[in-house]
Amino acid sequence: CKMDKDEKLGPGCDVTIQEINEINKKIRKDVLGLVNTDFFKYFKFDPYKQCTFWENNDGLCFSRSCAIDVVEDWDKLPEYWQPEVLGGVENDQNIVAEDNEANFLNQLCEGTNGINELQKDRDLNYFDINDFTSKDAVLVDLSKNPERFTGYGGQQAGQIWTSIYGENCFSTENEEERCLAKDAFYRIVSGLHASIGTHLSNDHLDTETGEWGPDLDLFMARVGNFPERVSNIYFNYAIVAKALWKINPYMKELNFCSSYNNDVKSKFVNIVSRLESKIFDEDLMFKDDVTSTLKDDFRNRFKNVTKIMDCVHCDRCKLWGKVQTTGYATSLKILFDLDEADEETKQKVVDGLTKYELIALLNTFDRLSKSIESINNFEKMYNDRFDSE
Ligand code: FAD
Repeated sequence: CKMDKDEKLGPGCDVTIQEINEINKKIRKDVLGLVNTDFFKYFKFDPYKQCTFWENNDGLCFSRSCAIDVVEDWDKLPEYWQPEVLGGVENDQNIVAEDNEANFLNQLCEGTNGINELQKDRDLNYFDINDFTSKDAVLVDLSKNPERFTGYGGQQAGQIWTSIYGENCFSTENEEERCLAKDAFYRIVSGLHASIGTHLSNDHLDTETGEWGPDLDLFMARVGNFPERVSNIYFNYAIVAKALWKINPYMKELNFCSSYNNDVKSKFVNIVSRLESKIFDEDLMFKDDVTSTLKDDFRNRFKNVTKIMDCVHCDRCKLWGKVQTTGYATSLKILFDLDEADEETKQKVVDGLTKYELIALLNTFDRLSKSIESINNFEKMYNDRFDSE
């Protein structure tokens, strides 16, 4: 991947790929430790929620053949290699206490104050609140359901991606503002897409040997040969890092199940204090003050993106899709809502964040951090291959 690692990622991003690599190396281990704590490893989602974007989602493409993508002759493979199985969510002990899952985290976090179950003001949410309130929602242990190759692909997955990219309509009349908004929206979606491509290449099933591991050729075909896609992963890292940096001074009231896991908050602060403000400048991204129309547009576009996830026919892809789209939605909410406000209002915005927004935010950061670690590993594999030729 021929990229200038010393070039700034802009607009809005005053750091280089090289600088982000350095930051990520320093904090990677701690980020991984944090997402494995009980507070951050459980996420709630409703795998059965109706897709509302197409008249008949079943009619779209529900057959096994739609999932045939990288691997040919799926039918000849053992059952446990079929996309439905690879893409399933581990559901024995890993979906926690189905009968009383609503109480599980509350019990775990007894004595927690400052962290909300739900955001009361529904209109101001960037995701669909029903994802977490539905009676069919399940609590999933993310650490037991890693994001990896699932075999999901073909026409159905392609259509989901096209629909997500198509959510880039912004109604602001200011031409320059509209272009910047479209550009930022595209970079976020493309960075998400590339990050998923990096994970599925890094944790890929070799159907000859039955082993899981990195596949350099697949990574190059999906991500590595496209410098723009790589750069968009770093751009997203900068956005989420800046959102974390911005909420840090207002975390006083949040306890993160501290009676149970007393070092979660210090782990969080330890990571965020090593991020820098200049990593992303949201004011530069939109040049002037962000108008309320633009904020509303971003909120509605992202709400739709999180809802499009209900149309994904692969439970594990849907799960991680929900986590990450909610994580980006939360980042944008923080960047926009904490911008102009006075200290008291900022504190209220942070106090109003829900548990699932915080969990999604941190796990999205971990996904990007892992992608960047994998990109650096793939680069080494690539160079070794040429050195040995
Ligand atoms: P796709 O990745 O489906 O892309 C379609 C087209 O988009 C490409 O032809 C290309 O022109 C363009 N494109 C590709 N990447 C980018 C980019 N970064 N920026 C801009 N344009 C791009 N598969 C798994 O194995 N594991 C998962 O966890 C997983 N999660 C998924 C989550 C979601 C929400 C979705 C929609 C899909 C997921 N998939 C997952 C499937 C995966 O993303 C691909 O769709 C699939 O592997 C088929 O890839 P493809 O090369 O045919 O093209």
